[in-house]
Amino acid sequence: MKVLVTGGAGFIGSAYTRALLARAPEGPEAPRVTVLDKLTYAGRTKNLDLTDPRLTFVHGDICDPAAVAEAMAGADHVVHFAAESHVDRSITQPDAFIRTNVLGTQTLLDQALRQGVECFVHVSTDEVYGSVETGSRSEADPLDPNSPYAASKAASDLVALAYHRTHGLDVRITRCSNNYGPRQFPEKIIPLFVTRLLSGGTVPLYGDGQQVRDWLHVADHCRGVEAVRTQGRPGEIYNIGGGTELTNRELTALLLAACGRERSAVEHVPDRKGHDRRYAICDDKLRRTSDYRPCHDFERGLAETVEWYRRNRTWWDR
Ligand code: NAD
Repeated sequence: MKVLVTGGAGFIGSAYTRALLARAPEGPEAPRVTVLDKLTYAGRTKNLDLTDPRLTFVHGDICDPAAVAEAMAGADHVVHFAAESHVDRSITQPDAFIRTNVLGTQTLLDQALRQGVECFVHVSTDEVYGSVETGSRSEADPLDPNSPYAASKAASDLVALAYHRTHGLDVRITRCSNNYGPRQFPEKIIPLFVTRLLSGGTVPLYGDGQQVRDWLHVADHCRGVEAVRTQGRPGEIYNIGGGTELTNRELTALLLAACGRERSAVEHVPDRKGHDRRYAICDDKLRRTSDYRPCHDFERGLAETVEWYRRNRTWWDR
């Protein structure tokens, strides 16, 4: 079994790759993993054990058909994480998001079709549903993205589904809530705030801080993706939720406490343009149809994450 993991040097893709290899049986049946990654600012090979003979690393762009063909050669399954992933950057540099997230995904799907790949898992986000005032979104709800990032992911979801409906390619889509855990580039709220607080700096809280996000440990997300790869069905979409809804203000208070800092470290800054107030998804479908259950307690997971950043300063203090 050979699995191609795109974006496998990033936060979630590397966690997935490490977990896949850690769980792998020994011997000839052990899965081999190829990681295809462009190594943007968000990707680093340090996140992977490149000495593992079961792992091959290909430095390349998912928009480059030749690099994709080389990396995908002989792959049975593809798990596609590679993306431009930070909403703030998508507001100022949307072109990179459309290129990588839409064109890159289509380039991969096209090659998967040519090479007869058995299963293509497309990793997407709950942000495609847009802001959710009340209740939660399920997989059949309409897409209503607001940021250029969310719009590019929604577009890629539709392209992926089109390859299933038009060509019969076995495409499965996951839509996950906000991830936290070690090795997340310090631009998203948890690693940004933790690294600034540990360095004695201030943290920028957007607007009134009442935006609600649903937090999921990266290891649980990876288990959800793996459940979809191994137990999911072609052409289906699966939400993967966290179950821990917090306002950014509440989250900030937890991070201040974990880093031993006072409220005076919070700097109130104007809200992000078009900032979604709340994301919320229902993931009953995945829980009903697979053995997936998240197993990380948020409080403990957050404390361990803060501890990881405390102990691994060389990883982030560049
Ligand atoms: P990340 O930004 O940490 O990593 C992205 C990886 O993709 C990096 O290693 C980068 O080098 C690589 N990459 C970017 N452009 C590329 C290109 N053109 N060709 C090849 N590689 C490229 O992102 P992440 O947080 O690990 O997110 C992974 C996936 O999960 C994304 O598709 C994202 O939309 C989705 N997702 C993330 C979250 C979250 O909370 N982080 C939540 C839901 C879904």
